[in-house]
Amino acid sequence: MKEKKRRFETEVIHLGYRSEKHDNSLIPPIYQTSTFTFANAEQGEKRFAGGEEGFIYSRLGNPTVKILEERVAALEKGEAALAFASGMAAVSAVLMTLTKTGDHILCSNGVYGCTFDFLQLLKQKYQIEHDFSLMDSMEELERKILPNTTCIYIETPINPTMKLVDLQMVAQLAKTKGIPVVVDNTFCSPYLQTPLSLGCDVVIHSATKYICGHGDVIAGLAAGSKDCMERIARTVQKDVGGILSPFDAWLLLRGLKTLPVRMDRHCENAKKLFMFLKDHPKIEAIYFPGDSQSPDYSIMKKQMKKPGGMISFTVKGTKETAQKLMNHLELIKIAVSLGDAETLIQHPATMTHSAVPEKDRKKMGIENNLLRLSVGLEAWVDIKADLEQALAKI
Ligand SMILES: *Cc1c(COP(=O)(O)O)cnc(C)c1O
Repeated sequence: MKEKKRRFETEVIHLGYRSEKHDNSLIPPIYQTSTFTFANAEQGEKRFAGGEEGFIYSRLGNPTVKILEERVAALEKGEAALAFASGMAAVSAVLMTLTKTGDHILCSNGVYGCTFDFLQLLKQKYQIEHDFSLMDSMEELERKILPNTTCIYIETPINPTMKLVDLQMVAQLAKTKGIPVVVDNTFCSPYLQTPLSLGCDVVIHSATKYICGHGDVIAGLAAGSKDCMERIARTVQKDVGGILSPFDAWLLLRGLKTLPVRMDRHCENAKKLFMFLKDHPKIEAIYFPGDSQSPDYSIMKKQMKKPGGMISFTVKGTKETAQKLMNHLELIKIAVSLGDAETLIQHPATMTHSAVPEKDRKKMGIENNLLRLSVGLEAWVDIKADLEQALAKI
């Protein structure tokens, strides 16, 4: 039976799962097994040869994980998706699949700290070069794309400066040159932004963040065309082996169900806190995609459903002033990661981006007095009160 096309809020709960195939269990079962038995030797032979559909061994595929992959593929408007043990397992598998020695990767002007480190590894070990670009105009892109560029890698909003990249513009130009565009969609989740529908080729998630939403899983996802996902699955995913466990896939399926409800609340709280913080006398600058004064506001309107739940800001003062603010917070927890029910604050220069050399950090706009706030699901007035009392003490 063909599945009906339903709304996002319905698909996050139902898509890809048929209870009648699982003893009518309402919730997908956890197939906690390493391997699958064959009825006979010939069936085993056929499965290995790809001549018969079916599971073989959980590193190559698992029923619980498959439900998650099918659901995410549809939510991201892709043909297929793959689940990984972490966001970095997804990032590294995608980049290793799309590049070889001598190639060049063009990145947005700022990437997640460990992605930055992985790019150094690719360069040092395999002579795969990379550059950063503001990607703010066709001319800039034309200038930065080299004859050996085989991948364009984008974060938008960029972590932690919240700068946006116009995905449609980049995808349009990349298409004429046959270069795949990869987007780390972690900050938005498919509820707020679907890069594949804007012409990009691969979407990556640290599912640890909004997709899980409960701060209890490390996981990664990639979505895109069937061809591309098969290439990744058959090579890097299978042989490097950073696969997701069935239990963690089950937790992600559980978290996904409330993604739209949670995101609406994250976004609503963030908007209200932005209004409170933007004119605060102790705050120097604030970065939020929902800022109508920001030059990126039109890009936000064009490609995001809502501005998201992340706010970055600089305090008037130094690194020590920023750290003092953090230390005075009572409700808001000091922690990296994001997208959880709890409001979290971190100091990018000494935490998520501490591995990035200071001069590169400055180029990315990561000042020493910059803080990143992941707005949680608490009552916004309680979050505001906590920020207010801590700001009064710096
Ligand atoms: C956290 C994060 C990652 C890495 O994901 P892990 O699940 O921690 O491996 C990659 N990209 C972004 C934007 C992230 O926030």
